[in-house]
Amino acid sequence: MTIYESSPELRSLLSLPERPRLLVVDDQPINIHALYEIFHEAHEVYAATSGQEALDFCRATPPDMILLDVMMPGMDGHEVCRRLKADRDTADIPVIFVTAQSDPADETRALEAGGVDFITKPANPAVVRARVKTHLTLRAQNELLRQLAFIDGLTGLANRRRFDEALQSEWRHCWRREAPLTLLMIDIDYFKRFNDRYGHQAGDACLQDVAATLKAAFGRPHDLVARYGGEEFVCLLPETDLAAGEAKAQVLLADVEHLAIPNDAAPAPAVVTISIGLATAVPGERTDPRTVMALADQALYEAKHAGRNCLRTAVVSAG
Ligand code: GH3
Ligand code: MG
Ligand code: MG
Repeated sequence: MTIYESSPELRSLLSLPERPRLLVVDDQPINIHALYEIFHEAHEVYAATSGQEALDFCRATPPDMILLDVMMPGMDGHEVCRRLKADRDTADIPVIFVTAQSDPADETRALEAGGVDFITKPANPAVVRARVKTHLTLRAQNELLRQLAFIDGLTGLANRRRFDEALQSEWRHCWRREAPLTLLMIDIDYFKRFNDRYGHQAGDACLQDVAATLKAAFGRPHDLVARYGGEEFVCLLPETDLAAGEAKAQVLLADVEHLAIPNDAAPAPAVVTISIGLATAVPGERTDPRTVMALADQALYEAKHAGRNCLRTAVVSAG
C-alpha cells in the first residue's frame, strides 16, 4: 500500500479545487468582463475594481489565484501585490499581472513585486487558461509537499515535527486562556513480540489500525494525535482538564482492545493493547512543555510496570 492509498487526507490533497476561485482586479469593467468570459465556465470568478477592494476581498475570503491589473488609479497593481505578500494570510496566493503593454522593465518590476507570471491585454483565451492552470497546479503541488513534511508516511497521522510545533502553539494558547493542557503518551504493549510472531508487515498494518482508532476517538478541531516514533503515539488535548483527559484515555484503551487484533505472544487477553501515560498542566511561568512531556513519559513507564493495558496519571502543579 502506498502512503496515498493509506490516507484519505492525502488523496484529497492531491486534487485541485473543483472550481478554483479567481479574483480579477481591474479598474475597467470591460477588462473584467473579458476575463470573466474566458474563465467563468470552469472557475468561480470574482471581481474587484480597486486595489483596496482587492485587499479586503483577499483578507476576508482568500481566492486560489489573482489576475491583477498593473495600472490602476490610487493603489497600483505592484503595491497591491507587495501588500498581499507582506501579510501572512494572503502571501501564498499566486498573483498573475495583466497589463496593456509590456517591456522587460515592466515585467521585471511585476516579478519583483512578487507576481508569478505576466500576461498582456488583450488576453488570448487559450494562453491565459493554460497559464492559470499551470500556476494552480504548482500551488497544489507546493501545498501537498508542505503537508507531507508534517505527515507520518505509514499511518497518515501528524508526525513528530508537526506535534512539536503544535505543542508550542497550544501551550501559549492555553497560557493566555489560563486553561489546562493534557498530554497522553501511548505505547503499544508487547509489540516486539507481535512483530516476531506475525512479521513486520502485519506489524505495520497493526500500527495503521491502532493509529486510525486513536484518531477516530477525537473530534475537537485542536486535538492532535501524532505518531511520536516507532510504536509510540502522543495526543495533545488543549483546554482539557485531568478528568476529561482520563475519560478520553479510558475510551482509547477500550477502543484498541476492542479492535481485537490477535497477539497470542502476549498474556491474556492475547490481543493488541496499549498503555497510556497522562500529564495535565496549566501553563505558566514555572512549568514548561518539556516537563509535561517528561511526566507523561514517566506515567507511561509506570503503566507498563503496573501490568500494561492501563492508564497512569501525573499532574503538574500550577505555576
Ligand atoms: P512494551 O510492552 O514494554 O512496550 O514492549 P514492546 O515490545 O512493545 O516494546 P519495545 O520498545 O521493546 O519494542 C518496540 C517494537 O516496535 C520494536 C520494533 O521492532 C517495533 N517497531 C517500531 N517501529 C515499527 C514499525 O514502523 N513497524 C513495525 N512493524 N514495527 C515497529
Ligand atoms: Mg516503545
Ligand atoms: Mg511497546
